[in-house]
Amino acid sequence: MQLEAAFTKPMRILVIVAHHDDIEFGAGGSVIRWTDAGAEVTYCIVTDGAAGSNEKDVNYLQLAERRKSEQNEAARIAGVKSVRYLDYADGMLQPTLDLRRDLTRLIREIRPQRVVINDPTTVLVQGDEGMNYINHPDHRAGAEAALYAVFPSAESRPIFPELLAEGFEPHHVEELYMMLSEGANIAVDISSVHDRKIQALLSHRSQIGEDAADFVTKFDAEAGKEVGVEFAEVFRVMTFYGEPQAAKDDPAD
Ligand SMILES: [Zn+2]
Repeated sequence: MQLEAAFTKPMRILVIVAHHDDIEFGAGGSVIRWTDAGAEVTYCIVTDGAAGSNEKDVNYLQLAERRKSEQNEAARIAGVKSVRYLDYADGMLQPTLDLRRDLTRLIREIRPQRVVINDPTTVLVQGDEGMNYINHPDHRAGAEAALYAVFPSAESRPIFPELLAEGFEPHHVEELYMMLSEGANIAVDISSVHDRKIQALLSHRSQIGEDAADFVTKFDAEAGKEVGVEFAEVFRVMTFYGEPQAAKDDPAD
């Protein structure tokens, strides 16, 4: 595990997740470090968040609206100016071509060097002290669609030609960061911004309370131990070099 190095150039970063609050758990501190360092970060929330309650008699439309305002507040705390909502049905997400097209359009519009997603290969997680969980299928479905939007769709001219007609030219993503991964190789030191991460997390008042803050603090401290800092978030990072074929074939060059 290595600590992330400082930026050497201006950065645009796009974070794509299934649910409101997914970012704040897994990457909230890192995003604050990145925006503090001058990066322009955009959030994309794929589902409408309407399944975020198991109570009877919930007004799902109202819940979805409330979750958007909570997510907007969390983004504001993190220095993120733009949040995009795709409003797919929460709890039933599939990695369809429609979703991949929507994410490809967004990548070609924002033109980020770095895209942050969940690790689509994480299915079963067996942690210490009974911290076992089954990864939510929405996380995997959203991540799979985002992964294949990054490559090959975003950079390949022949895929989704309708996007060219809309004016969205191919774009090559340089770095992929994956949260919730069992193959993490990069840690971001979030010690100096951990209080702001917790503040952003607690914006999701309809979903979580102080117990979640305690859990996240413990989790981030464990991750920090591995790299000798107080708090850290870890990612599986892949870096892609080279000119994409699609760019070489661009008739405008
Ligand atoms: Zn989630």
